[in-house]
This record gives sequence, C-alpha cells and structure tokens, in this order.
Amino acid sequence: MPALPNLLIATTNTGKLLEIREILSDVPFQINSLKDYATLAEPEENGSTFAENARKKALYYAHTIKTLTVADDSGLEIDALGGRPGIRSSRYPGDTYAKRFDNLYQELETLHGTRDSTARFVCSVALVWQGRVIFTADGTVEGQVASVPTGTGGFGYDPLFYYPPLDVTLAELTSAQKTAISHRGKAFRALKTYLQSWIKDL
Ligand code: IMP
Repeated sequence: MPALPNLLIATTNTGKLLEIREILSDVPFQINSLKDYATLAEPEENGSTFAENARKKALYYAHTIKTLTVADDSGLEIDALGGRPGIRSSRYPGDTYAKRFDNLYQELETLHGTRDSTARFVCSVALVWQGRVIFTADGTVEGQVASVPTGTGGFGYDPLFYYPPLDVTLAELTSAQKTAISHRGKAFRALKTYLQSWIKDL
C-alpha cells in the first residue's frame, strides 16, 4: 500500500477541531489542521448552502496545501427566524456568544413574540483529493432554543440548544455524549466509514 497522505482538517475553530479529532481518532492518518500553518488567506464563504461552502473550503485548502483535505460548514437554523443565522452563524452580530444569545432572544421576541422555537444544527462535510470532491455527507440534530443559555461545555451556540430526548442543552454534555447525537458526529462518522474503505482501495 502506498504511504498515506496527511489528512488536513480545514478549520482553525478549536471546538470543532477537538470534536473532529475525537471522531477520527482511530483512522490511520497523520491529522493536521489549519492551526499547523502560518495564516493563510481565507476563501470567501459565498455559497448559499452549507454543502456548497464545505465544497468551496475543501477545494480551496486542498489546492493550497496539496493533501487530502476535509472541510465542514456548519451552523444553527432557528425555525422562527426562517432558518437564520444558518450559514451565517459564525458571522451573527455580537462580539461574544453571550451577546449573540441576547441578540437572538431579542430578535425572536420582537418577530415572534416568544423565544420558543424549534431549531437544528447542520453540518456538511466535503473531502477533496487531487482536485476533486470525492465524498460529501450531511448531519443534523433537531432541538429547540433553550429558554435560558445553560451549560459550560462544547462551544459556540451549544448553551442555546436544548435537546429534548436528554433534557439538556448540548453544553451540558461531555464531548463524547455530544458527538454521539450531534450534526458533526453524524457527518464525520460517515466520512470515517468512507475513509476506511478508501484506504483499502489505494
Ligand atoms: P463555520 O466555521 O463557517 O462552519 O461556522 C460554524 C459556526 O456555527 C461556529 O462558529 C458556531 O458559531 C456555529 N456552530 C457550528 N457547529 C456548532 C456546534 O456544534 N455547537 C455550537 N455552535 C456551532
């Protein structure tokens, strides 16, 4: 079997990276992330879907770094806000997540009269090898906007995302518990299955 290429996880987001490394811990690749490279110019995230943005990011970084590259694009869709912040989750107004939570509650109360809403996290993954997208997957987890932000685990919007089957927010789960049910867990487990068979065909 030829030497395996390194697998680049095309993110600098520490929270994402921890979860992804845990999911892929038993694939036999040397895993790198964008944190291992001096700051690179970022591609424009101008797609209209998570899937499109994941493909664009993976193609861009694979071209720049020239190795097997996976990118994910993910975010929170709040139904009462028509799916916002969605693909703009990382750019939603607020310089801290506490401020973003306040802004989202304010929007919900103004537009909808209550902060209650169903919501989901979405994660799209794209894998690029030698200039081509060779695998894509999506994962979602359904829940609700928490009535107050709760919990200190996870990252980003986790304290705002209530998961009824376990009666907790995602920020009250350990990383392994979150990954077992999360959007990212689902998408990256599918990627892992693909990689395990891809290696056999090398
Ligand atoms: P991306 O880097 O463009 O994919 O932005 C993803 C953004 O969506 C993150 O910065 C978070 O704000 C949010 N997000 C995605 N996945 C999660 C998650 O698992 N928990 C909390 N927030 C998330």
